[in-house]
Amino acid sequence: MENVIIIGTGCAGYTAAIYTGRANLRPLVLAGTQPGGQLTTTTEVENFPGFPEGVQGPDLMMKMMAQAQKFGARFEYETVSALSKDADGGFTVTTGSRSHRAKAVIVATGASPRHLGLPNEQALIGHGLTSCATCDGAFYRDVPVCVIGGGDSACEEATFLTRFASKVFLIHRRGELRASKIMADRALGNPKIEPVWHSAVTEYITDANGEMTRIRLQNLQSGAASHLDVKCVFVAIGHVPNTGFLGGLADLDENGYILHRKGMMTNIDGLFAAGDVADHVWRQAITAAGQGCAAAIETERYLADTWGH
Ligand code: NAP
Repeated sequence: MENVIIIGTGCAGYTAAIYTGRANLRPLVLAGTQPGGQLTTTTEVENFPGFPEGVQGPDLMMKMMAQAQKFGARFEYETVSALSKDADGGFTVTTGSRSHRAKAVIVATGASPRHLGLPNEQALIGHGLTSCATCDGAFYRDVPVCVIGGGDSACEEATFLTRFASKVFLIHRRGELRASKIMADRALGNPKIEPVWHSAVTEYITDANGEMTRIRLQNLQSGAASHLDVKCVFVAIGHVPNTGFLGGLADLDENGYILHRKGMMTNIDGLFAAGDVADHVWRQAITAAGQGCAAAIETERYLADTWGH
């Protein structure tokens, strides 16, 4: 039986792996389909302490992984489909191909991009609809695109896209951005970015090949309908926590985030949660890392108290 399984490899998972590794617990990390988490889809991270010149998100994550491996963390590229608590107090972690047993589990599965829920949205992913400007922005050179959302992500994506696109419409449902002032000022001060306030996208329209060509909009104040011709829609309206595999094991809040009972422990003894999967408030790389650290320290104590480590 493993001492501890860490599910997820964003800032929270890697930090938990570094700390449990250094505590000689030889953690098994199940990395899933997007190793490195959300920071692998960003470019420059300017606010992670220790990098006054900024650091590229993917570089930071690769360094965290190397640091965890240095202290004995083992990585498997498996996606967890189910998690259950066993009669002996341990856990069974089921992946597509097999199952593992562990005395403690740290869930650090993060959150995935939210979509609008329009009928043809899923079919358009990769055909002019995406949530990752870093991944897909370069495909849309010298054509108009749009970003939906008013938070830091939307501003960051819109600013990044001005490197390629001829024009970036920033479509927001309110008349004021939610983003931090520095990110909002940077976006609104960019001559290539045109804000479209109080507006909701109501329809994606495709060409004969099924590629995005136009969006229909509704002004939420006047009700007036309009359209914009864009080759790609970048959806940046927040994230949904990745908790599906829990199957009701841990208590969640009304938005699906894992609830902590005490510290990083959930309502289930030995089950800890760290990072964006349990945090709808701060949602920063550094707070996720901090929670990963806290979950690791609490895991060490739990294993000592309960399993006599
Ligand atoms: P967010 O802050 O939750 O913003 C989501 C935006 O999408 C909001 O403007 C929201 O509108 C809008 N929205 C939500 N649901 C919508 C819907 N159904 N239709 C239309 N619009 C909708 O999410 P985020 O921008 O992804 O940021 C998440 C966290 O990461 C934040 O804490 C942020 O500070 C952080 N972050 C930091 C950086 C950085 O510092 N470099 C970069 C990116 C993200 P309302 O404003 O009307 O609610």
